[in-house]
Amino acid sequence: MGAAKKRREAFLREHPWCCFCGGRVPATTEDHVPVRAAFAGKIGPEGFEFPACEACNRGTAGSEQVFALYVRLFDRTEENYDERHTEKLIRGVRNNYPDLMPDANLTATEKRRVLRNFGWERARGAFFDEVPMVGIPDLVAQHMAMNARKLLAALIYRHTGNALNEESGVVSGWSQQGLPGVDEAHNVLAGGMPQLVIGARVNTTIGDQFSYRWGRNDPESLFGYAAEFGSGLFIFAAAAPWDVVADRDGWSRYVAPRSPQ
Ligand SMILES: [Zn+2]
Repeated sequence: MGAAKKRREAFLREHPWCCFCGGRVPATTEDHVPVRAAFAGKIGPEGFEFPACEACNRGTAGSEQVFALYVRLFDRTEENYDERHTEKLIRGVRNNYPDLMPDANLTATEKRRVLRNFGWERARGAFFDEVPMVGIPDLVAQHMAMNARKLLAALIYRHTGNALNEESGVVSGWSQQGLPGVDEAHNVLAGGMPQLVIGARVNTTIGDQFSYRWGRNDPESLFGYAAEFGSGLFIFAAAAPWDVVADRDGWSRYVAPRSPQ
C-alpha cells in the first residue's frame, strides 16, 4: 500500500464520520476546505483536511471552482498572484458556469450607479468606460454562501470535534475587502472572535492567503468565524441552535452543502 493511501486510511479511522452532513454518514474521502484551487499554485494550508462522504465532497466541486476563481480575482497581493492557475480557473468556470463569469462590460449607467451607492468618485476627467469595475452576477452569492457554510462546518469540526447538523441555524455573508463598511463589519465580528488562526504549511508558508478568527459562546452554543483570503475576499458564517435563531432575519436551517444548480 502506498504511503498516501496508508495516511488516508489512518485519517479516516481517526475521523470516521462525514463532518458536513450531520455526522451520521461514514466518511470515505478527505476533503480540503478551503478548496486548494483557491490558493496560488493550488497549495492550501496544511491541516485543513476534513472527513467527507462522497456526496459532500463531489457535490460541492462546482461551487468550489466558482469560489476559487473569485478568491483569485479579488486578491490583489502581488506575491499571491498566479496567472496560469487563474487563467485555468477562468476557462473552467467559463465552460461550466458561463453565467457566473465576472461581467467586464458594465454600462456607464451601471458604473455610475455603483459609484454613487458607495459614495466614490471616478478619477477627474475619466470616462465611465475607463473606470476599472467588473460586475459580479447575483448567482455568485449562492455559491459564496455554500462555501461559507461548508467552511463553517469544517471549522466547527476542527475546533469542537462536532458535526454541524440540521438542528442548527446558520447565517453567512461575504464581501470584497476595501468596500465601504467592510472594515467596520470586520472589526465588530473580530471583536467577538478572539482566537486567530493563520493558515500555514510546513516548509511553505502560504503567507496572508488565508487567516480566520473564530469564537464560540458556550451557553448559547453559538460558533462563528470571519476569514480573509489575502487582500480580497472577506467571508463569515455562524451557527446556533435552530430554536434560538429560527425567527431571526438571515438565518436558515443548516443543510448539507451542495452546489446550487
Ligand atoms: Zn456528507
